[in-house]
Amino acid sequence: MKHKYYLCPRCKTPLTLMIESEHIGSERRITYKYRCSACSFKVVTERVILRKVNGSFRLEILKSREIERIYQ
Ligand SMILES: [Zn+2]
Repeated sequence: MKHKYYLCPRCKTPLTLMIESEHIGSERRITYKYRCSACSFKVVTERVILRKVNGSFRLEILKSREIERIYQ
């Protein structure tokens, strides 16, 4: 996955891309976010949700516009 290089809007430390995977009930969630190691600022850019519904899988991709708003 290609990603941009961002600086923390609070303290100007380079943000680190983090990918988190978690199971919640019958769902699997993958969250892409940027985090500042200095001040713990974080912003979620994308969330992928894989859900099992009646024996078949359903994929949902939610994109956040928050990061575009911060860096516009
Ligand atoms: Zn920071």
